Amino acid sequence: MVDKVVTGKCLCGQISVSIPEVILNKSEHIGLCYCKNCRQSGGCLASYNLYLPEKDVTIQGEPKIYLDKDTKSGTTVRRAFCGNCGSPMFGKNPNFAGLMAIRLGCFDQLTKPGMVLFCKDRPQWDKSIDGTQENETMPEVTDEFKDWLKNVGVKI
Ligand SMILES: [Zn+2]
Ligand SMILES: [Zn+2]
Repeated sequence: MVDKVVTGKCLCGQISVSIPEVILNKSEHIGLCYCKNCRQSGGCLASYNLYLPEKDVTIQGEPKIYLDKDTKSGTTVRRAFCGNCGSPMFGKNPNFAGLMAIRLGCFDQLTKPGMVLFCKDRPQWDKSIDGTQENETMPEVTDEFKDWLKNVGVKI
């Protein structure tokens, strides 16, 4: 059986991202990131991401890639966006090769996030979301998380 696929598009429609619908329903795969780089690159309060293996993602169109070298971890993060309308589309971190962070605002279904990253950079007036796991910066890479990454084919 083929998994049902859902598609999100950039504002002008030149770039689209398709993912299995089952993953879109999983809060534990979804996170908000309040780091300054996400904020600046999106012009937003926090980036809203779905983390999933690259092999589960189909991209149509040719996104532009910005190599973001000025990161807290010192690794160069690849930030993909539409060169026509500027919508952020996804990010890739070489520390988690094979994992993608899809910018979820491009989709119609806005699933509740299961985690929040870089809470230390969240403004005081913004409230936390009930039942989400909060991290001061990046979440800890636990053995459980490592196993999950291994299972989905991500090299760390
Ligand atoms: Zn576009
Ligand atoms: Zn971030």
